[in-house]
Amino acid sequence: MRYTWLDEYLLQKRGVTKDLQPVWNWVRYMIGGRMFAAVCLDEKNKPYYINLKLEPMEGEFYRAQYPDVIPGYYSDKLHWNSIRPDGAVPDELLRQMLDQSYALVLAGLPKKQQRAALGLTVCGSECGSCELYGQSCPGCNEAAGRVFHAPAGKPCPIYGCCVNKKHLATCKGCPQLPCAIWQAVRDPSLTEEEFRQDTARRVERLKGV
Ligand code: SF4
Ligand code: SF4
Repeated sequence: MRYTWLDEYLLQKRGVTKDLQPVWNWVRYMIGGRMFAAVCLDEKNKPYYINLKLEPMEGEFYRAQYPDVIPGYYSDKLHWNSIRPDGAVPDELLRQMLDQSYALVLAGLPKKQQRAALGLTVCGSECGSCELYGQSCPGCNEAAGRVFHAPAGKPCPIYGCCVNKKHLATCKGCPQLPCAIWQAVRDPSLTEEEFRQDTARRVERLKGV
């Protein structure tokens, strides 16, 4: 296969796992337990297709442009497409297609499951790497925002706005990001500069998926 970068490229995406489907001999790349890409292997473990999901009109467009893009092998042919692994689809285009497949499958998950799959809170924090996680705090997603540093009996104002009011998976989709609520609920132990850096990191994490 000419796309030797593919495995590394997919595995560096947030929340991605891979397995081997032994009956089909497909290497599957998953987000939140759902497949968004697969490398189909023959009996000698040589790739013969790369399967990925696209918006139907986009899939149709690429099928018309490239003979190496065909309706999804062994898949729903409206949404899934198969790419020949030694064909003429440019590397950069394949990367874009894989990005889109990841984004489509992720967006198809329930919002809470999206955050869980990404290991992110609504505001881009990583509870999994917090020393309080599973000890004195169950985590933002698990507690539906009612964490110890939220107002008594209420969710954190960021969670309340993002999930309960705007029905977003995370603040990523909000044009006001990072808004005045982020400022209002800042950790008082952080200096101005630390808060600025922490905010930038969280925004980057959110926008990076
Ligand atoms: S919600 Fe809890 S576990 Fe998550 S980052 Fe905040 S304190 Fe840590
Ligand atoms: S206004 Fe936007 S950025 Fe601010 S908390 Fe609500 S969803 Fe998040």
